[in-house]
Amino acid sequence: MENIAFLGTGGTRTPSQGTTCLRVSDHCVIDAGNLINTFGDEVFTIEHIFLTHSHLDHIIDIPFLADLFVTQKSISLKIYGLKATLDDLRRFIFNHRVWPNFEEITLIGHTDKTIELIELDLEVPYTIDDITLTPFKTNHTEGSCGYIIEQNSSALLFTADTYKCDRIWELLDERPNIHTLITEVSFPSSFAKLAYDSKHLTPSLLAEELQKCKRDDFTLCVMHLKALFMGTIIEELNALHLLRNGGKVLIDGDRINYTRP
Ligand SMILES: [Zn+2]
Ligand SMILES: [Zn+2]
Repeated sequence: MENIAFLGTGGTRTPSQGTTCLRVSDHCVIDAGNLINTFGDEVFTIEHIFLTHSHLDHIIDIPFLADLFVTQKSISLKIYGLKATLDDLRRFIFNHRVWPNFEEITLIGHTDKTIELIELDLEVPYTIDDITLTPFKTNHTEGSCGYIIEQNSSALLFTADTYKCDRIWELLDERPNIHTLITEVSFPSSFAKLAYDSKHLTPSLLAEELQKCKRDDFTLCVMHLKALFMGTIIEELNALHLLRNGGKVLIDGDRINYTRP
């Protein structure tokens, strides 16, 4: 694929908006907040899901995908994440209580299990199709990470959910081939306490964070806005001139090219 398709961009699930879900190649997505409603019949082409963390808005379609795949696929659906994220899936979702344990259930007519959980190492590149994903630690939950998404040495940095996090700004300075930063802004600036407690960013926190970075040449896009506060957040982003170099608030269906336009 020539671009990343943003299938779900909301910080809230509404009738018109899904939650975090990026299609990064023909067979690979990051997070599973909006797969079922956006892929249609193509849903069976998904082979790899890289998770940023285990919050419900990022994993919600995985149980339904496993349920679809068990009678239709011949190879396991591979789900990647840091250890704490995979532990959460085992303990709280695929536990034979909330949902069947598809890690133990064999695909009908085949030998592979329905899902395979694969632990990621931080700062190690993983290549799927023609793209490379490198997870880095973020400041959101235990086991949360973002990804550097790279194709032919052209890269984007996707933080997913995070609070203040030095590593984001170090990576941007270390890797000049990152042309676009996609980060989150969940609440208006007046909700600083809630942002701290829930480990999310506001426009003024993002403005503070940007001071840590020497570069000012990358495009900055945001997502994960809480629907109730969308108008206020956008006003604040504009007042602080944060959507720099052609950046925008991403909506479901947006695409960003791997190569810088
Ligand atoms: Zn989260
Ligand atoms: Zn989230």
